[in-house]
Amino acid sequence: MGFIKTISSLKQKLSEEKSHGRNIGLVPTMGALHAGHLELVRRSIIENDRTVVSIFVNPIQFNKKEDLSKYPRDLVSDLEKLKSVGCDYVFAPETNEMYPEPDLTQFEFGQLDKVMEGKFRPGHFSGVAIVVKKLFEVIEPAQAYFGEKDFQQLAVINKLVEIEKIPIKIIPCKTVREEDGLAMSSRNVRLTKSERAIAPQIYHTLINIKKRIVRSNVSELIRSSINLLNNNDGLTVEYLEIVDAKTLIPIETPNKTNEIIACIAVNLGNVRLIDNLKLS
Ligand code: AMP
Repeated sequence: MGFIKTISSLKQKLSEEKSHGRNIGLVPTMGALHAGHLELVRRSIIENDRTVVSIFVNPIQFNKKEDLSKYPRDLVSDLEKLKSVGCDYVFAPETNEMYPEPDLTQFEFGQLDKVMEGKFRPGHFSGVAIVVKKLFEVIEPAQAYFGEKDFQQLAVINKLVEIEKIPIKIIPCKTVREEDGLAMSSRNVRLTKSERAIAPQIYHTLINIKKRIVRSNVSELIRSSINLLNNNDGLTVEYLEIVDAKTLIPIETPNKTNEIIACIAVNLGNVRLIDNLKLS
């Protein structure tokens, strides 16, 4: 497995690969890898001749300094995991390699980056789009893999590819969960034992919404679900929304034609967790 830290050596390696007619799959990550990330990597390995996993904790997508400084990092264990699944290249640049000077590119994503995560984490998606576009330009993969766990991010990346006319196929991958339903996340390691015991309630709430959506008043269902969750010690719901899966606009009544999805963000102790579930 190749370990590469600079853009120039990555480009050189990949142009060699491409000169042999090999196509590239890209899995962008921020490291602290878990089984969810590895599913994306496995899929890329199956579907492409070579797989590049990027590991870069992108400072400009963090709106809180503390969240950035506390973000888990474990490069040694990440490399072991990636090697064990058969990844071909790891690209782990330093910040100044990615941003020799500040990148002030702005994108117009309409509603997509203004609601939910966009509302509570100002600037987050602009930071995500800047880094992903840069990775796309440097690596020029045929396909790039993103998790549905970050559903809004996936919608923003699809829009990015559309508006910038980037010839890369975006492959969505299902959310991988712990046995008790908690969506795998790098942040889960920061939960205390008691917080970890509460955390599966997030998924259980989404399941309950899915069961009740057809027969319920949507705003009442949201209100009662938030109240139930907030009864847990140390848990505060930041948002819980039921939205159209394409536009991310909140729906008032479900209809049979549009796909809808419940999206949630909570603070559990000092850890912010997100999850979502398709309801139709
Ligand atoms: P991150 O390192 O958290 O930025 O995630 C890197 C990629 O892995 C993103 O496309 C995420 O959506 C995806 N991912 C993170 N957690 C999961 C999970 N539990 N299941 C599937 N994909 C995930």
